[in-house]
Amino acid sequence: METKVIYFTVNGTPEQAEFPVDCPDQDVKDLFRSAAEAGPHDILKLYSPKGSIINISTRLEPNSPSSCYRLEVVATDCSHQPPGAELAGGLDLSSIEKRLQCLERNILIYDDKTPSVVFEMKKQVDSFREKLENVEHLSWLGLFKDLSEGTHKPSPFYHKRTLQKTREECERVREKFLQMSSLEVSEEVRNYLKTPTFDNWQWEDAEIMVLLQVMYTDLDFVASFNIEPETLQQFLFEVYRRYNNIPFHNFKHCFCVTQMMYGLIWLTDLRSKMDSINLLIMLTSAVCHDLDHTGYNNAYQINARTDLALRYNDISPLENHHCAVAFEILERRESNIFRNLSPDQYKRIREGMIKCILATDMTRHNEILNKFKSTLPSFDFTNKEHKDLLMMILIKVSDISNEARPMEVAEPWLDCLLQEFFNQSDVEKLEGLPVTPFMDRDKVTKPSSQIGFISITSLSQCGRPLTTTLRWRRLWRRNNRPGLKVRM
Ligand code: 5GP
Ligand code: MN
Repeated sequence: METKVIYFTVNGTPEQAEFPVDCPDQDVKDLFRSAAEAGPHDILKLYSPKGSIINISTRLEPNSPSSCYRLEVVATDCSHQPPGAELAGGLDLSSIEKRLQCLERNILIYDDKTPSVVFEMKKQVDSFREKLENVEHLSWLGLFKDLSEGTHKPSPFYHKRTLQKTREECERVREKFLQMSSLEVSEEVRNYLKTPTFDNWQWEDAEIMVLLQVMYTDLDFVASFNIEPETLQQFLFEVYRRYNNIPFHNFKHCFCVTQMMYGLIWLTDLRSKMDSINLLIMLTSAVCHDLDHTGYNNAYQINARTDLALRYNDISPLENHHCAVAFEILERRESNIFRNLSPDQYKRIREGMIKCILATDMTRHNEILNKFKSTLPSFDFTNKEHKDLLMMILIKVSDISNEARPMEVAEPWLDCLLQEFFNQSDVEKLEGLPVTPFMDRDKVTKPSSQIGFISITSLSQCGRPLTTTLRWRRLWRRNNRPGLKVRM
């Protein structure tokens, strides 16, 4: 069999490849790939002694050790990595770790302790992994960002998966919830739950479900609307299940919005002004308002022409979807908390929930706010239109109320939001879509994001700076002093 011998260097090490002249090109490419220890998605480049790029194929010109070619691994495309594999600039840490383990095993056959050199290598791999993971974490949040630096490359760690909960995770939480749901919740916690200073970070998901159950009980919905405990539990479980594991629009956000709505109902003594069906609409809308959010906003849905944008003709695709998922859950008898209501009452609830959930599309902010402001001088609790507007405003207020919470509750939420924003803008950059400016990690910082958002949503509306804006202004000024890096 006639063979060819090719001499080349990879990372300065001389290598030689030998292959049959009539083998497929792919075999030659694979040979070079394994010589470079490159992964399946790495790009290989072969250079001639003159520096020109040459094609890796069976037609390669045979050479000698004195005129060898140079092989380089020039890029790694992280986006094609299977979940779980960690890559950094062409290095596959998992495979290095595996090779080290194998080496250690082989050595242990001859000697009963790991040689210090292997131990040292393992330590280095561990420390490199830790550094990588920290950088990933920091880059998500835009931490330690130097604004003087020009544009940043999109994070290679972006994800574009809908992180649905696994069956095991759901079952674990459901079991815990059912075990806890028969326990009595103390008066102290019930009262704390009515306050806007409530700290969601202290509670895990199963406990949050119990707290939501408490809200339906303490507002007398369970008794007034004859909601069976099992139906309420099944409804809450389905809601939990249909919030995805994403940084911001997750089950904990659903809880915070609902808890703020609950707090506002008590704080304003709304029970003396609105009938309980309206209150039931408001609380359930808050519970359902972001169901199955995937972490990409409407602008992305429309620009990327997603299934949701197509289905809803670019009209509030997300909010329409959240609402449709809510009624999917409510259409099932076992999770229909409204199943003992009359058809007329159900119809009224459905109409109300659709109005409230669709009102959470922030592109309608000014439209809704201006309408509400125009009713204020003559606001009348017997006027259905006025009441509808108030309900829409209250869900909107609850939806964007993180900033009104204590800093130790609010700030981690902002980290979560920016994590989701930056992920979207990274994906937009990679997909060549218009980049949403307030989500761009090259343009926003925590203070600038909050000053911008609060100015748009409230400052211009009430005519004076809010304390929340002021606290971000202070931070912004501190961070922008000459010579100081923005540490976020
Ligand atoms: P949601 O998507 O939760 O239904 O609607 C609220 C939207 O308002 C969020 O997606 C986000 O764009 C924006 N938002 C809410 N709270 C904040 C905040 O504290 N800061 C900023 N920058 N945006 C916020
Ligand atoms: Mn929301």
